[in-house]
Amino acid sequence: MAVLVFAESDNGVYKKSSFEIVSYGKTLATSLGTSCIAVSIGNAGTENLGNYGADKHIHVSDASVQNFNPQVYAKALNKVATDNGAHTIVISQTYSGKSIAPLLAIKQNAALATGLVSLPEIEGDRFRVKKTCFSSKAIAHVSLTNPKRVITLIPNSYQINITDSEVAKEDFSCGISESDVNTTITATNKVTGKVVLTEAELVVSAGRGLKGPVNWNLVEDLADALGAATACSKPVSDMEWRPHSEHVGQTGITIKPNLYMAFGISGAIQHLAGVGSSKVICVINTDPEAPFFKAADYGIVGDAFEVLPKLTKRVKEIKGVA
Ligand code: FAD
Repeated sequence: MAVLVFAESDNGVYKKSSFEIVSYGKTLATSLGTSCIAVSIGNAGTENLGNYGADKHIHVSDASVQNFNPQVYAKALNKVATDNGAHTIVISQTYSGKSIAPLLAIKQNAALATGLVSLPEIEGDRFRVKKTCFSSKAIAHVSLTNPKRVITLIPNSYQINITDSEVAKEDFSCGISESDVNTTITATNKVTGKVVLTEAELVVSAGRGLKGPVNWNLVEDLADALGAATACSKPVSDMEWRPHSEHVGQTGITIKPNLYMAFGISGAIQHLAGVGSSKVICVINTDPEAPFFKAADYGIVGDAFEVLPKLTKRVKEIKGVA
C-alpha cells in the first residue's frame, strides 16, 4: 500500500508540476499512513526527489521509454504501481498526464478523478475529492469508493514543500521492448517562449483588442518586465497573430497562474474555461460592459495601448530596471 506519483520531465529537466505532485503525494501518503513513491521515466531531471518528499524514487530506465508515448508510459507506471502495491496514483493534469491517467486507471481497474485542485478529504474509507468540471465553471465533490484510485492534480494547485531528506534513485526495467512502441515520432516542434505558459505563475494575455500582431511588443515588454509568459485568445491564434501554443481556453490550453492579466479580451465563456481558475484575474478593456469584468478580481476600464506601457514602466521602476 503506497501512494505513487509520476514526476514528469521534459528533455532531462523536471517540470515544476513534478515537484508539486511529489509534495502533494507525500502529504497524502502521510494522511493515509503510508509512503510516497516517486516514479520518473526516461530522460528525467537530476534533482533529488527526496527533497520534495519522496520516500523512494524509482526510475524507469528501459531504452524504449526515452520518448513520450502514453501507452508505453501507462504500461510502465502500471508495472511499477503493481509491483509496489500502490493504491493511489497521482499524476499532474498536464498534456501528457491527461493522456496517461485514463489508460492507467483501466489497467489498474481503479477509480479515476481528474482536475483536482486540492488534497482529498479522508475519513476512514471515505476518499472525497474536489475537482473542476464544466470547463472549470463549477467544482464537483466526488467520493471515490474503489480502494484503488488514479487522480490528476491541476498544476499550480499545491505548494512545493522542500525538505532536507534525500533518496537514492533506483533504476528499474519494466521490460518494455521496441515492439510495445506503436508510434514513431518523425518531428518535434518545441515551444521556445522564455517562460513556459503551462508552468507560468504570471501570464500577460491579449486578444483582438490589440488590433494586430505588430502591437504585441507592448504585451511582450510587460511580460518581460514581470517575468511572465504570454498568452492570447483563440481568434488571435486563428489569425496567426500569435502561435497556437499561446491560445488559452476551452479549445486551447488550460492554465492556473497566480496572476492572469487580460488586455483587450472580451471574456467569452470559452476563453474563461481555460483561465477562470487563475488565482487573481486582472482585466483591461475599453468596454465597461465586457463580460470579463464579472470574472475579474481587478479591472481597468481603459485603452490597452495606454495602460500597457504605463504598467511596464511602473513594474520596471519598482524592480529598479527602468
Ligand atoms: P473580441 O470578442 O473581439 O473582444 C475584443 C475585446 O477587446 C472587446 O471586449 C473590446 O471591448 C476590447 N477592446 C477593443 N479595443 C481595445 C483596446 N484598445 N483596449 C482594451 N480593450 C479593447 N476563445 C478563446 O479565447 N479560447 C478558446 O479556447 C475558445 N474556444 C472556442 C470554442 C468554440 C466551440 C467556440 C464557438 C468559440 C471559442 N472561442 C474561444 C471564441 C470565443 O467565443 C470568443 O469569440 C473569443 O474568445 C473572443 O476573442 P477576443 O476576446 O480576443 O475578441
